[in-house]
Parts: sequence; C-alpha cells; structure tokens
Amino acid sequence: MKAAPFEYVRVESVDEALNLLSLHGGDAKLIAGGQSLVPMMAMRLARPAVLVDIARLNELKESLVDGRFVTLGAGVRQRSVELDSTLYESLPLVRDALRWVGHIQTRTRGTVGGSLVHADPSAELPLAAVVLGATFRVRSLEEGERRIPASEFFLGPMFNALGEQECLIDIEWPVWSGPGVKTAFEEVAMRHGDFAMASAACQLQLDGDGVCRRAALGLGGVDGTPLAFPDISAGLEGYKVNQDIAREIAQACVARIQPASDVHADADYRRHLAGVLLTRVILQSAGLLHAEH
Ligand SMILES: Cc1cc2nc3c(=O)[nH]c(=O)nc-3n(C[C@H](O)[C@H](O)[C@H](O)COP(=O)(O)OP(=O)(O)OC[C@H]3O[C@@H](n4cnc5c(N)ncnc54)[C@H](O)[C@@H]3O)c2cc1C
Repeated sequence: MKAAPFEYVRVESVDEALNLLSLHGGDAKLIAGGQSLVPMMAMRLARPAVLVDIARLNELKESLVDGRFVTLGAGVRQRSVELDSTLYESLPLVRDALRWVGHIQTRTRGTVGGSLVHADPSAELPLAAVVLGATFRVRSLEEGERRIPASEFFLGPMFNALGEQECLIDIEWPVWSGPGVKTAFEEVAMRHGDFAMASAACQLQLDGDGVCRRAALGLGGVDGTPLAFPDISAGLEGYKVNQDIAREIAQACVARIQPASDVHADADYRRHLAGVLLTRVILQSAGLLHAEH
C-alpha cells in the first residue's frame, strides 16, 4: 500500500513547526527520522494531511551533560548517542537499551524523541525513560511549555500525553553520580531488531562491599505501556544481591503485570519471559551473571 496524499513542509524553526501544528490542528503531523511514521503512513494507519519535517532543526539536536542530568534534544539521532562517549558513559542504561533498537540503519535516521513519542510498549527507549524517571519538556503555541514525567507520559499502546499541537523539545535524564553504577538490558524478540515480546531493564548502584544502595528496574512489552517498579526495586536496597533475592524481586514485579496474548506470544509465555529476564538483569547488574550478547 502507498501513503495517502499529503502536503510536505520542511520548517526552519520549532516556532514555525508549532505554527503549522496550530493552524492545521490534528491534520498535521511532525516527522523526525520517519522510521515509525513512514511505515504507519504506508499502511494508512496514519493519514496526516500535512507533514511537518523537523529533522534538520538544530534547536532539537542539542545535548547537555551537567553532572546531575543529561538533557537530550528530541531530534538527537539514536546513533549519535551511541557514538558520543560522554552521553554513553553518563547514561549507561540508555546505551544498553539502544543496542536492542532496530538496526544501525534505523538508528542512524531515528531520533530519541521520535521513539519516545511513538510510544510503542515494546520499544526500548520508553522503558529506559520510565526506569530512570526521565522528564519530557514539550511546547505548543497555545499552552507554552510544560514538563511531563515519564511515569505520566505513556498512556497506552502508541498513545501518550502529548497534545496534538505540542512538540517534544528535549528529555532530561537523571544521572546517577558516584561509583558502582551497573546496568543491564535484556529482551526476547523473534529476530534481532524486531520489537520485543518482553524486555527488562535494571540499574543498580553498589557500594564497595557489593551492597545495593540504589535500584531501579522495569519491564517492556508486557502491558500497554512500559512499566517501572520503584516500590519493589527499593526492596533491593541495603542487601547484597543473590539468586534468591533477584528471583523474589522479579516475581513481585511479575505478579503486577497483565500481559496480552498475540500471534508472537501468549500471556503466560510473556509472564514467564518477564520473570526470567528481570532475574537476569538484576543478577547481571550485580555482577553475578554475564550477558550472552
Ligand atoms: C525495520 C525497523 C525496525 C525497528 N525496530 C525497532 C526496535 O527494535 N525498537 C524500537 O524501539 N523501535 C524500532 N523501530 C522504530 C523506530 O526505529 C523508532 O520508533 C523510530 O526511530 C522513531 O523515531 P523517528 O525519529 O524515526 O520518528 P518518526 O517516525 O519521524 O515519528 C514517530 C512519531 O513521533 C512523532 N514525533 C517525532 N518527533 C517528535 C517531536 N519532537 N515532537 C512531537 N512528536 C514527534 C511523529 O509525529 C510520529 O508520530 C524500528 C523501525 C524499523 C523501520
């Protein structure tokens, strides 16, 4: 199938993009890397009358590392994050997540913001965002600027808290300072580069004796949105991680999920995967298991 006819405008500034969104209401759509939107248009799941191209806006490509946060412009390409050692070192969980996102070709075009706004429940960057507690800065002509925590951004499959006339400007990712920060990201998909049937992410901070001082973890692909479990992961803090604790924490998370069945996996298999993957990422982050990829 081919996309329905549309008008194409390449804008020179965010303000121009916001003006067009305001003028055309829900009929206009922003396009960044096009890696999700173009296939959606080709399948006629999206039929924007006006396509507003923001891919070349330098305003959306700035990134800032200030010790406590990394702010990534929405238009920063996924591959640019992989190639920037400062970003890479400050955000190890994002680095781990990106390894699983599509292919080098899709990451070269695809932007960080595009992946987050697309809000696929199986996508890796949204999972990293909820686990780390990222904050989204968005702007529209009418409402001005507002900040949305990742925990309130994802509302359902391909559905987020962004208004039709809003543009995502940048994403603020908290940096865990100090030594002993360890991360792991695992998923199971039909083929490498496919969307995950289930994925799991974990970030731990261990002290010199191997005791967990801070923990964050989450699951993707097992519900309508990526899920973080801050109250459960807090149960790791103050303990030296071992197999039993890792399994117990993973099972407490799995008890909360209600996965759906589809052609790739039924709900029971997804629940099983979630438990196995979460246990694995906790043990890997604690240095008790090596990743096999
Ligand atoms: C073969 C293939 C494999 C893939 N595998 C994976 C995978 O394993 N994991 C994964 O997560 N993704 C995967 N993807 C999807 C894809 O790589 C990302 O979702 C994609 O990179 C989105 O970013 P984009 O810049 O291309 O967004 P676009 O396609 O341009 O836009 C996506 C959506 O975001 C909106 N948007 C973009 N930027 C903004 C902004 N600044 N403000 C407001 N709205 C905005 C658009 O209007 C659109 O609704 C795959 C894609 C392909 C083609």
